[in-house]
Amino acid sequence: MRITIISDIHGNLDALETVLADAARQSALDAIWNAGDTVGYGPQPAEVLATLRANGAVSVAGNHDLAACGLLDRSDFNRLAALAIDWTAGVLNEDELCLLRALPAHSIERGATLVHGSLRAPYREYLLRAGEAGAHFALQTTQLSVVGHTHLQMWFDEVAPGVVRRHYSRDGQVLALGDERLILNPGSVGQPRDGDVRAGYAIYDTAQATVMWRRLPYDVQSVQRKMRARGLPQELIDRLDRGV
Ligand code: ZN
Repeated sequence: MRITIISDIHGNLDALETVLADAARQSALDAIWNAGDTVGYGPQPAEVLATLRANGAVSVAGNHDLAACGLLDRSDFNRLAALAIDWTAGVLNEDELCLLRALPAHSIERGATLVHGSLRAPYREYLLRAGEAGAHFALQTTQLSVVGHTHLQMWFDEVAPGVVRRHYSRDGQVLALGDERLILNPGSVGQPRDGDVRAGYAIYDTAQATVMWRRLPYDVQSVQRKMRARGLPQELIDRLDRGV
């Protein structure tokens, strides 16, 4: 199987369509695993939900997904994120809100655990450091896990019990999987935060036992035009062409 791993689409349909077209060229649509934050910030949350549903994606809940459907208190969100969440909640219909409310905190797929932030705190914790990753590994019952939330392409490996290393990934980088346990972050489809504006995702090849990270240019200006037309905050529009 060749599996497309995505996260943090954030209502950015242009970026998602670019990623799925590339994944199709890469023959990587045997399954789609989505680590959450499907909506929030971007201008087309309903279209993104419909596209994922049409492609049979498996999704877990992110903090923005739960805030948009009223299951998470948005007082933790900064002003701009909260504005975007209010806008998102207003444009989704009851069916789409039900879809968000039904998302699980985690899901186990073919020996991999999907969760948005971390197993310790699925909607709050950012796995950025080895110490935090160690606490996550202590709760991980599968060889692999997939997280998002940081919007950074990276991975952690557990080289010995309690010994965790952190790595950042580059476009086109291929990781050969061994026996060690791993935490994989495919980066963000719709709002990268590493200074690179391109959409990020990863491909997991179960037969070859490899993971490849990819970056793809997409039409950022098209998304920015839609955000402007829908009255989303200018700061959120501007950050897309800085990749922050
Ligand atoms: Zn996010």
